[in-house]
Amino acid sequence: MERDIFAELTKLKKEMVISLMELVKIPAISPESGGKGEGEKSKFVESLCREIGFDKIIHYDTFSQGVKRPNLVAKIKGKKPARLWIITHLDVVPVGDLKLWKSSPFAPKIKNGKIFARGAEDNGQDIIAALFAVEALRNLNLTPERDIYFAALSDEETISEYGMKYLVKKKVFKKGDVFLVPDGGSPDGSLIEVAEKSLLWLEIKIIGKQCHASMPEKGINALEAGSYFIGKLKNLKKAFGKKDPFYTPSYSSFEPTKRLNNVPNINTIPGSDIFYIDCRILPGYKISEILAFLEKIKKDVEKEKKVKIKIKVIQKEKATKTEPGSPIVKNLAKALQKVCGVKPRIKGVGWGTCASFVRRIDYPAVVWSKVDGVAHQPDEYARIENLLIDSKVFADLFLQPI
Ligand SMILES: [Zn+2]
Repeated sequence: MERDIFAELTKLKKEMVISLMELVKIPAISPESGGKGEGEKSKFVESLCREIGFDKIIHYDTFSQGVKRPNLVAKIKGKKPARLWIITHLDVVPVGDLKLWKSSPFAPKIKNGKIFARGAEDNGQDIIAALFAVEALRNLNLTPERDIYFAALSDEETISEYGMKYLVKKKVFKKGDVFLVPDGGSPDGSLIEVAEKSLLWLEIKIIGKQCHASMPEKGINALEAGSYFIGKLKNLKKAFGKKDPFYTPSYSSFEPTKRLNNVPNINTIPGSDIFYIDCRILPGYKISEILAFLEKIKKDVEKEKKVKIKIKVIQKEKATKTEPGSPIVKNLAKALQKVCGVKPRIKGVGWGTCASFVRRIDYPAVVWSKVDGVAHQPDEYARIENLLIDSKVFADLFLQPI
C-alpha cells in the first residue's frame, strides 16, 4: 500500500507542478504590506479542494483595512475521530527590490528542477504537496487514520492576527488536535522544529537636540547617542550569553535592525534617532530580565550623553515547546526516515511560525518541510523534488496507525 501511494504521487508530479505554477501566479500580499490580500489565491485553493473532493469546506474569513482575509479549512474524514491539522499560509512577503530578481516574481519559471516565484517555497510548495497527498489517497480509495484538516490561512507573514490567531480566538481547535506546520525546515529534510525562542521587538527612541552641525555645542547629537546605545548591546549579549545546543542558533540574539530616517541634510545634527532591536531569547531567560538590563543601558546612556530615551515594546512572545517525545513528533520522524532516508534532528529555532500560537495553548505542533530555505529572498524557488517528497511525507503521516 505504501509503495502504491508513493507511486501514485510520483504519477501526479506533473500535475502538482502545474498547480504550483498556477498558484504562485496569484500575488497574495497583505493590505498591511500594501497588497490586495489573499482573496483570489484562496479561491484558487478552494477550487482545488473541490476538485479533489474534500468532505467539507469551512471558511473562517475576517477583514482588515476593509479587505477580506480568507481562512480556508478543508476536511477529509478519517477512520478515527482524532484530528490532524496541516497549517499552511496563503500570503507572501513583498517582492522587495525587483532589480535583484533574475526572473519575474509572479511569472513562475522552471529552471534546473526548480520553480522560481515569490511564494514558491513559502508556502506554495506545501499547500500543493498537502492537497495532492489527499488527492493520492482519494485516487486509491484510501481512508486516513484520523480526520485531516487542511488549512490555508491569511496573514502569516505579518502578525497572524487575521489568520492563525483568529482561529485560536474563534476556538476552532479541540482537545486532542495535533498540528503539522510545513513552513520551515532544512535542505535534507531532517530538521523537525518543536520549539521557538522567546521573541522581543523593541523601538528605541533617542531624544537629543537638533542644531547646526557647525555649532555642535548648541545641540545634542541623537544619532551619536543612539549609536553609543547600540554599541552597548554587546554587554547585553555577554550578560545573556548562555548556550543551548537544542536551539539553532544555540545562543540568544539581540540585533539592532531597522533605523528611521533622520535629517535630510548633512549640515544638521539630528535631534532624534529611532531604531529597533530584534531579540530571540533562549527559554532559560525571562523577557523581564532583558528589559531590566536594557533599562540600565538606557539610564547610563541618558546620563553620559544627556539625552532622553524611550523604550517601547512592539512585540513580545514567550518561548514555546512541544515535547520531543510526543506522538506527532514520532509519527513525523518515522515518515521522514522512510521517505527522505534521513535521521531526524529534533530542534528549537529562533524564528516564529503559526505553530507557536497553538503551542501556547498546549497543543502539540511540529514544523517541518524539505526546503533550501530561500523564503523571502529574491529569486525564491521551490525544488520540484521537494514538492514531491513533502507530499509523500504527508501521505505517509495520513496513513500511519495512531
Ligand atoms: Zn511561511
